[in-house]
Amino acid sequence: MLKVENVNVFYGNIQALKGVSLEVKEGEIVTLIGANGAGKSTLLKTISGLIKPKQGDILYEGQSIAGKAAQTIVKRGISHVPEGRRVFANMTVEENLELGAFLRKNKQEIQQDFEKVYHLFPRLYERRKQLAGTLSGGEQQMLAIGRALMARPRLLLLDEPSMGLAPLLVKTIFRIIEEINSFGTTILLVEQNANMALSVADRAYVIESGRVVLSGLAEELNDSEQVKKAYLGGH
Ligand code: ATP
Repeated sequence: MLKVENVNVFYGNIQALKGVSLEVKEGEIVTLIGANGAGKSTLLKTISGLIKPKQGDILYEGQSIAGKAAQTIVKRGISHVPEGRRVFANMTVEENLELGAFLRKNKQEIQQDFEKVYHLFPRLYERRKQLAGTLSGGEQQMLAIGRALMARPRLLLLDEPSMGLAPLLVKTIFRIIEEINSFGTTILLVEQNANMALSVADRAYVIESGRVVLSGLAEELNDSEQVKKAYLGGH
């Protein structure tokens, strides 16, 4: 479904991605783990068109999307939930969700997706008339995911959905990620919480200083001494 081939990305003179290649197959949950500053967010931004790669290619369903406008990429079926939620604080929950569907025209399908999102996140339904800025961190994360789903993506890019959430909420968010996947949405998940990420993912890539240093089945990486030492707290 998605193939990233030898991608190089620079911020000025600083090279953030150094020949990154990876693949996401239809129906999978693939996770990208790595320390702060390794380049995980940069990779998601490059896939969703917020940053242009200097070299390399990104193929989505066989066609190159590298360097295309973010709006074009959303229309093709890729939605990005950025790090730090970024909901529109002065708009209601419902208005935030409506914005997620702004490129779509079919009112009936949009209505169906509202229902799906409210079913997935009953809390958002309860708070639909409330300003997004008044929601808790966990609710804002739910809203950010819900907003991305309103674009009806086939591939969902999630950047650190568990960041700053209490352990119980982290569990809820991961359960919902699995549920979204079970309805047929393919997921590329960036996480610092390697434990949780590996527990829901099919496959994983480890990224260090802009390079993929390890990849494999999530359960294999879970058992790898190298990963345990660096990312799983040595257990
Ligand atoms: P984090 O979890 O902190 O977001 P990350 O793995 O997602 O980490 P990136 O945010 O992709 O890492 O950053 C990769 C590298 O690029 C880092 O060295 C970072 O300092 C640098 N970088 C990121 N954004 C910019 C920017 N806008 N300008 C310059 N350098 C940047």
